Amino acid sequence: MAKISINLATGSFQKEEIIVGIDLGTTNSLVAFINPDKDPQVINDAGKGILVPSVVYFNNQNEAIVGNEAKEFLTTDPANTIFSVKRLLGRSYKDVAEHKDIFSYKIIDDDSDALVKIQAGNRFYTPIELSAEILKELKARAEHALKTPVNRAVITVPAYFNDSQRQATRDAGKLAGLDVMRIVNEPTAASLAYGIGLDPTQQKTIAVYDLGGGTFDVSILQIQNGIFEVLATNGNTYLGGDDFDRSILNYWLEKNNLDVNVVAQDNILMQTLRLQAEAAKKALSTQNLYNEQVGEIWCTIDKQTFEQLIAVKVEETITACKNALKDAGLTASDIDEVILVGGSTRTPFVKQAVENFFGKKPQDNINPDEVVALGAAIQADVLAGNRSDILLLDVTPLSLGIETMGGLMDVIIARNSKVPTKAGRQYTTSIDGQVNMKISVYQGERDLVKENRKLAEFDLKGIPAMPAGLPKVDINFLLNADGILTVQAIELRSGVKQEIEITPSYGLSDDTVEKMLMDSITHAKSDVAQRMLIEARSEGEQLVYTAEGFIKKHAEHLTETEVAETVAHIEALKNALSSLEKDIILKKADELNEFTRPFAERVMDAAIYTAMKGKKIE
Ligand code: AMP
Repeated sequence: MAKISINLATGSFQKEEIIVGIDLGTTNSLVAFINPDKDPQVINDAGKGILVPSVVYFNNQNEAIVGNEAKEFLTTDPANTIFSVKRLLGRSYKDVAEHKDIFSYKIIDDDSDALVKIQAGNRFYTPIELSAEILKELKARAEHALKTPVNRAVITVPAYFNDSQRQATRDAGKLAGLDVMRIVNEPTAASLAYGIGLDPTQQKTIAVYDLGGGTFDVSILQIQNGIFEVLATNGNTYLGGDDFDRSILNYWLEKNNLDVNVVAQDNILMQTLRLQAEAAKKALSTQNLYNEQVGEIWCTIDKQTFEQLIAVKVEETITACKNALKDAGLTASDIDEVILVGGSTRTPFVKQAVENFFGKKPQDNINPDEVVALGAAIQADVLAGNRSDILLLDVTPLSLGIETMGGLMDVIIARNSKVPTKAGRQYTTSIDGQVNMKISVYQGERDLVKENRKLAEFDLKGIPAMPAGLPKVDINFLLNADGILTVQAIELRSGVKQEIEITPSYGLSDDTVEKMLMDSITHAKSDVAQRMLIEARSEGEQLVYTAEGFIKKHAEHLTETEVAETVAHIEALKNALSSLEKDIILKKADELNEFTRPFAERVMDAAIYTAMKGKKIE
């Protein structure tokens, strides 16, 4: 039976609970919903503002304070004021070490492979817990503004987020008391906000250019039959409007003959100048000159100078657009629409550069700070069953597979497969009586697992003891629409089963993805040669194992010379196994096979004879 409730805020009947859309950003976060007019709308609770700074401050009582109030402690108590936590979600210390200087709080580095922890006061927090604090604040604001409990949400993530980061986002939602209905890519949400993809007959290729405070990414999406597919993403997770502010700040210091290192000693002055620089940048989006004074320091800059200062950074974003197009196998003229996301796209110079590159005016009539949350609300509405079905489809950026004999990668879900997807393969044991099977899951394009990224490992235990090759172990990979991988192993004869959901122990940046892809191309030839050598070795080892077993078991059917010669062939093959030439191994294996084949036939005949003996044939 459908629930019917009345929303006190809107005065309308509500069939189901509201599902909100949340943009959990690096700098700012916000929440949106579909209003009674069926339009997406951002929530501004009691005039507190739409954007909630993604900042968490812990006071002496270890109480979390989120948003604008927390932001004020950035200068006065930086050690206990956590910003940019999104950069740490699903990441290990190793992943973030290179950029650790930007964090003014303590990131724990005792185990560089484990997920990071952050210290504030005398307590340690995971990025999941900190993100959950931001989500709790958004949930509370939505509940207060809408006067209804909010328990379900769609949360957006960058298209380049890997499984671990997506899972961490989902966990943060859960911790905040939200049932996360779907994790949606930010560019997909932005497209939805512009109504792109809502019409199933529409076919479009679009570019989403997202320049925020501290991050930049561009995604190329293809939309057809109501299906969104991310063809490519590119960007720089350490480039954004903050860099523009820094350029202005440095320019002022130079013009005022001030030494950066001296001014940097004065936290408060530095922060005041930084805020002044941001104000100048924002002002220059609509005027040609900015002129203020901070104490003795002249803060003057004109639009032309500002544009010269940021030209290199903007050019870098255009290079990323070029690379994304190249990866997608497209040119600028193939792009039907360009969408602008992120506050920094308000800078006219940025807008113009994007327009020049793509050769068309970008879509910018929706507030670039709000567009992702608005799209997330539309997606939430789709999930609530209020709109015709829209599928959201992404592709997996790297292949997923397991380790097989000799450390080889056996790909189960290939790179660029559309998600959700399911694939499986059957394996068996290589040793008689083997009761456990180790399943190691990897991500990457190289032939050897040691060159790829290990995601998880588990043992399928309790396989009944059987001769090698008899057990049938099905390994199934299920990659869901959020990009989360479930691996299931089942031995079909006995039904023993084991399943894991992958939450990789450390994250993966888009730079790493790119490097992994490049490496696989550079090493393609040597990888193939190595794979063939390893396969020959595994085959040889298996043959040695079988042949040794055979002569032990069936010696009575063989002459002494035959046994001795078999042993000699086995030894020859064993020696060949250390060779780097696969052909030498295969030759010795062939020789052993040829030599022992008649014996195998002899043993078989003897077995048949024994079976028939005593049976009367009428
Ligand atoms: P976001 O991360 O999308 O919230 O974007 C925040 C960035 O947008 C910050 O660097 C802001 O300074 C910048 N920003 C906000 N408004 C403007 C504006 N009017 N002109 C230029 N940059 C802006």
